[in-house]
Order: sequence, then C-alpha cells, then structure tokens
Amino acid sequence: MSTTLTGACPECETDLSTPPMVKGETLACPECMLTLRVEDVASGGVLSLQMVEVQLRDWGQ
Ligand SMILES: [Zn+2]
Repeated sequence: MSTTLTGACPECETDLSTPPMVKGETLACPECMLTLRVEDVASGGVLSLQMVEVQLRDWGQ
C-alpha cells in the first residue's frame, strides 16, 4: 500500500506526489506556486486537485 498520493497540477500539469492528504486540504504547487485544494482522493491514491482563488487584496475596511 502506497503512503504517497499522486496528482497533477491543473495549471502547469506538473506531476505531484504528496504525503497522505484528505479532501479539503490545500497544498502549494512547487512549480507554479498556485494553491491547490484536494477535491477528491481516488482509490489508488490519485488526487483530484482544484486551483484555489487566493485573495491577495484585503477588501476589508
Ligand atoms: Zn502548478
């Protein structure tokens, strides 16, 4: 049984391997530095990753 998960960055298609993660966790792509969220973990340890829109501006006043 594998202890790492694999996935591909939806933005730059870099192959990623990560420690075990669960749905809803986030990671940063080491290549394009985008924040990715785990949408699903398929059997076999394949991650479905989705880009997270990061708010860089603080709109609060
Ligand atoms: Zn990437």
